[in-house]
Amino acid sequence: IQHKALIPATLIPGDGIGPEVVNAAVAVLDALKAPFEWDMQLAGVAGLQAKGDPLPEDLLASIRRTGLALKGPLTTPIGGGFRSANVRLREAFSLYANVRPARTIVPGRYENIDIVLIRENLEGFYVAHEHYLPIGDDPRAVAISAGANTREGSRRIARYAFEYALKHNRKKITVVHKANVLKILTGLFLEEARNVAREYEGRVQLDDRIVDACAMQLVLNPWQFDMLLCTNLFGDILSDEIAGLVGGLGLAPGANIGKDVAIFEAVHGSAPDIAGRGIANPLSLLLASGLMLDHVGEPEMGDRLRKAIHLTLNEDNIKTPDLGGKASTRDLTQALIQRLA
Ligand code: NAD
Repeated sequence: IQHKALIPATLIPGDGIGPEVVNAAVAVLDALKAPFEWDMQLAGVAGLQAKGDPLPEDLLASIRRTGLALKGPLTTPIGGGFRSANVRLREAFSLYANVRPARTIVPGRYENIDIVLIRENLEGFYVAHEHYLPIGDDPRAVAISAGANTREGSRRIARYAFEYALKHNRKKITVVHKANVLKILTGLFLEEARNVAREYEGRVQLDDRIVDACAMQLVLNPWQFDMLLCTNLFGDILSDEIAGLVGGLGLAPGANIGKDVAIFEAVHGSAPDIAGRGIANPLSLLLASGLMLDHVGEPEMGDRLRKAIHLTLNEDNIKTPDLGGKASTRDLTQALIQRLA
């Protein structure tokens, strides 16, 4: 028997429910005989406590070596405190494309949803050039924030979206903007999407929506959308909205893609409200693991994983509380492992 070489990959347990869902994902990937050789590294609050930095050098060195990571959510303090380790990680490896598919697995409020959102991952308001201006004796009387979309960055993400459409046989991309008000910032993004679209004429169609109208139409008639192409902030918001269409943050995977590095994660955060209770839904991270298998050229294994998830939810009816069930993280993990066996 010939054994395939293992693929080195960095494993980041993360904060809050992170270690719970990462352990579950690794157990299921083991049962699947996924070809990953994990290098475990701390980040976020866990990294800060153990190594004095939410993004420790050891972690960066590991990802530089592997070019591949599966990542649990990282806690970011709200308001003050350290800068988001998620954002720093995306910047450190120029992970310019954030791919967030939303597909119905368990029919709920909506059925047959199949939307892929492509979010620009490095620019826009996420550059977070922020400061206060003083008035009189109030040093923080005015809050200022500047966003930045570069022509090159806008073109790069548009091209990524069109290439994705060709590869995955998708027909229409809707670019989301607010070019009626943020005429420059999101106008340039729209302009470049239209420029790139010309190269794909007859193969992939482009239309556009103003973000507020898009948010409403996603609730009223989500089936009209095939792919969404978004600036960083709008993509952040609308990807949670489309996760809601398919059952919530427990079923929402994401991939952060750059030229040399890809990092797979759940869309959700560290869920401090349920951390340590053993009820976190590991399926977002497992669906992200499925994207990771596709990425490394193991799509059949990814399909086996997705099928096991489908059957565990719909035939075995084993669901965590976020999906209306009573199963624990452990119950669901065991059920998936049994399905794979
Ligand atoms: P959150 O996604 O952690 O939680 C929102 C709600 O969804 C909570 O009620 C939570 O219990 C629930 N939820 C999320 N994931 C779940 C799962 N797998 N199973 C069951 N329920 C789940 O969002 P938040 O509370 O706004 O953020 C908490 C922290 O996470 C913050 O520090 C934030 O910065 C961070 N965060 C990190 C990432 C990331 O690492 N990519 C993404 C978003 C938020």
